[in-house]
Amino acid sequence: EYALRNDKIMPKADITISLEDRGYQFGDGIYEVIRFYDGELFHLDAHLARLDISARQINLTLPLSMDALARRLKELTALSKIGDGKIYLQITRGVSRRAHAFPEETEPLLTAYTEEVARPLSQLATGIGAITVQDNRWLRVDIKSLNLLPNVLAKQKAKEAGAVEAIFIRDGHVTEASASNVFGIRNGVIYTHPVSPFILNGITRQALKVLAEKVGIQWVDEAFTEQELMEMDEVIMTNTVLEVCPVISINGQPVGKGQPGQHTIRLQQAFAEEIAVLKRG
Ligand code: PMP
Repeated sequence: EYALRNDKIMPKADITISLEDRGYQFGDGIYEVIRFYDGELFHLDAHLARLDISARQINLTLPLSMDALARRLKELTALSKIGDGKIYLQITRGVSRRAHAFPEETEPLLTAYTEEVARPLSQLATGIGAITVQDNRWLRVDIKSLNLLPNVLAKQKAKEAGAVEAIFIRDGHVTEASASNVFGIRNGVIYTHPVSPFILNGITRQALKVLAEKVGIQWVDEAFTEQELMEMDEVIMTNTVLEVCPVISINGQPVGKGQPGQHTIRLQQAFAEEIAVLKRG
């Protein structure tokens, strides 16, 4: 098994992380999760563009160029010999004596490794359950930072309730979920929270927007209330691993007819077609 450390690919077991790494001590860093199917990286450029934005937001300089990083990630994926999987990549502000302010000389530390992950076919077919929770995160969740404690706690709450995801409510409105974006479909129109500091602009969200246009489903970037969420005909969640997943119950109440709806299925088909095209190369 191999992993990337800055610009070098090495055996995963040879990578050691310092106790004084700022990612470990402060969560001072950013990350990405990138999907690959049949060893082909999916929306790599969009993930790298978002990584670049996150890095700039926290004044982090990448230890290698974006082109070099893209090459290394492709090499790493090929070396893994995994068909369907993901890359987890993070960059921290590196190692220094513990003090909150940035160290004088920072050497950011980038690490990445692959993991096999099958497509979540049964969840995609039957849908998942969710709960709603208060969005108590900070006001810059558009930055894909390592600080995920509120997300961790929300997801755990969902799990304990027998659900898969926790939908965040801020000032009465749905923002996103603990690890995914949220969409509601009403009378054939798809609604979702606009891109803002209150959501992470998901790569799968961006892909879904293109697909909605392609299949002729009207898209509205507009936040909706928790009440409106409960009255949607269909609800969808997206992320890099979950893909385009139907939500069939929220807080124990069925969404629409309590099964994946027609628009959701249409969007899932379009997404599956995009994967098929990637696999054909
Ligand atoms: N929102 C949050 C809070 C997330 O953690 C994620 C997944 N990283 C997403 C949205 C979806 O992003 P993407 O489609 O890029 O995986």
